[in-house]
This record gives sequence, structure tokens and C-alpha cells, in this order.
Amino acid sequence: MKPTIITDIVCYVTNPERHNLTVVKVLTDRGVYGVGCATFQQRPLAVKTMIEEYVKPILIGRDANQIEDLWHLMMVNSYWRNGPVINNAVAGIDMALWDIKGKLADMPLYQLWGGRARTAIPAYTHAVADTMDELYQEIDRIREQGYRHIRCQLGFYGGIPDALRTPEEPLEGTYFDQDDYCRNTVHMFAELRKTYGSAFHILHDVHERLFPNQAIQFAKELEPYHPYFLEDLLPPDQNEWLAQLRSQCAVPIATGELFNNPMEWKDLIQHRRIDFLRCHVSQLGGITPALKLAAFADAFGIRIAWHTPSDITPIGVAVNTHLNIHLHNAAIQENIELKDRIKAVFPGYNEAEQGFFYPIERPGIGVDINEEEIQKYPVIYRPHPWTQSRIPDGTLVTP
Ligand code: MG
Repeated sequence: MKPTIITDIVCYVTNPERHNLTVVKVLTDRGVYGVGCATFQQRPLAVKTMIEEYVKPILIGRDANQIEDLWHLMMVNSYWRNGPVINNAVAGIDMALWDIKGKLADMPLYQLWGGRARTAIPAYTHAVADTMDELYQEIDRIREQGYRHIRCQLGFYGGIPDALRTPEEPLEGTYFDQDDYCRNTVHMFAELRKTYGSAFHILHDVHERLFPNQAIQFAKELEPYHPYFLEDLLPPDQNEWLAQLRSQCAVPIATGELFNNPMEWKDLIQHRRIDFLRCHVSQLGGITPALKLAAFADAFGIRIAWHTPSDITPIGVAVNTHLNIHLHNAAIQENIELKDRIKAVFPGYNEAEQGFFYPIERPGIGVDINEEEIQKYPVIYRPHPWTQSRIPDGTLVTP
């Protein structure tokens, strides 16, 4: 195959709506370009620097067709690897290279990988409210849009404390009470099943806010209500506790959005300690490692539910859709409604329709960027109070 020489790499950071988004554009001598998502919303400038100062110089003049070799080159060139900054930088370029390959082949990515495994992938979205009445309204609104899978949360992660009692002069932070959270969430599940029966699947994200034994008790209490999955019951460094959970309880477990090192998932998959892998494709290093990880998980009966939050570009959303249409072990795709400014920046974006994401039929990823729109929204750093989460005595815990 004739080489496709990389002539330039541009990295944009932009904040059209609430989150800092990072986009990569790789240009070639054949006039074909590709785009990728490198979003690490809390550290956008670190990723931009990584791409422009360190990765771009080693890629200019190389053949964009050789994705496998270039991925390894980018990953090992800094010797120290598998961190969120380098992985997102590598991912942005990796996605752009796959976009180029798809455009050259005149095929959507899912076709390039071997075609589809299903008609469409079920989508889920989030219902969050401070009271049960408000939650019912939110669920009814979402069900009317055709969803049959809904992530239900009473209050923000960690819930709403019943009566918060802190020591004098509490440290700054977002407070929650683990006992109140567990009790109120079990109540929420019970009420939802009473009201709706099995009319839709209930998902829930613990967001790693419990101590290990609390988490096991909580999962066992929720088991009778048949959640579709419980997400991030534990922080990654406490996942060994899942062995004990699995011996006591069959509640489906989903985890992985924080993973960026293969050492974090090998053991969990091999020992079948989870049911759904929730990895964030750009945090892994892009499409190249995502395809390998999905195949590895498939061999052990573990299904895929790629992390698709609001701090991802529509390029990343579309990549997840291509993967989910192609991968036999893909289970479900998270969906957050796109705001108008995001739609203007990313022409070609795809959205869920009546609770499903359908195949994208345009060549490559199928999403483009409007470089004039991007320039309108400079990056704004905000301190993210939710990352300063404390339990009542003031102890800072994983967010
Ligand atoms: Mg999550």
C-alpha cells in the first residue's frame, strides 16, 4: 500500500459547554485527515503539551497507515508509560489514524474491523434527582424517549446526607455520609421496583465512595432488586475485595473507567471478578488497545460498557458506537444528551434514537470538527469541588 505521510498534527483544547475537551487533527500528504478525542478534562493543557511538544515531532514524516507500529512507538518513546496524560495524547492520535484509514478505505470503522455484531446497541442515560418524586418525573421523561435502561441516583455521587454532623470548623469540601447513602439508595431501589416493576433496567454508580466491607454489604442488600449493574463499587486499588464479594453475591459488577494500565484489568478479567468492563477508550490509549482488551474480555465472558460521560467529545462517542456495533461482547452504551454548542463544534455527531445507538455509515469515525467554532471557546479551569469529597469527620476520600 502506498504510504500516507503525516505532514502535521494539531491539538485543540476547547470548552463549548461546561467541560474542557481536547481534540487532535492529523493531516497527511494525500489530503486526507483524521480527528481523535484526547479529552482529560481536568488536565487539558498537559495533554496538549504532550501532543505538540513530544509526540508530534516523532510522527511527522511517518506513514499513517502503520497504526500498530506508531501506537507502540508513541507508548514507549517516553519510556515511562500508562499514565492518563500520555494515554490520552496517544489515544487522540490513534483515533485520528483509524479515522484516516477508514476514509482511505471508504468504510465506517465498524466495517473496517469486520462488520456488525448487532442491529443497534442499547443506550442508557442518567436520572438524577434529590427526591423520589423528582426522580419519578425524570424517569418518566427518559422512558418517553424510548430508553429501557436508566442509571438512577438519588442526589449526586454519595447521595444526600440526612443530617450532616461535622466537627467545628469543617475543612472545605463536598460532604456525604456513607451510611445515609447506602440506606437511601436501597430504599430508592425498593421504591423503583414497587412503582415500575421490571419495566426498565436500573443501573447505579457508587463512584468508589464506600469502604470495602460497606461496599460488600451494600451490594448484597441491592441484589434482590436485580440491578443491571453496580458501577465502581470500589476504588481500583481495592478491587481485590471483589473476590470476597463474588463468593457471596451475584450482583452484576461494572468497573474500569479509571484504568489506564493493563495490570489493572488482567487479574480482574482472568478471575471473572467483574461482569462489565467500563474502560474509557482515550484513557486506555485509543482504539488499538481497546480492540485488544475487548477480545481478551470476550474470552472470559466479560461484556463491554465503554465509559461515555459528558466530558468526552462526540468523536469519542462515535468511536464507542463503532466499537459497540462491531464487538460481539459489547453490552450497552452510555449516553448524555449533547448540547447545541457541542453539536456546532462537532458536525456529524451521532445520538441515541428511541434508546438505541445505530451504526454510523460515514467513512472513518464519521464526525468532523469546526475549527472556527472551536476557537470561540477557550479552556477554563475550574477546581471541581466533587473531587474534594469528604466524609463527615473531614477525611478526604476517592471522588
Ligand atoms: Mg462512573
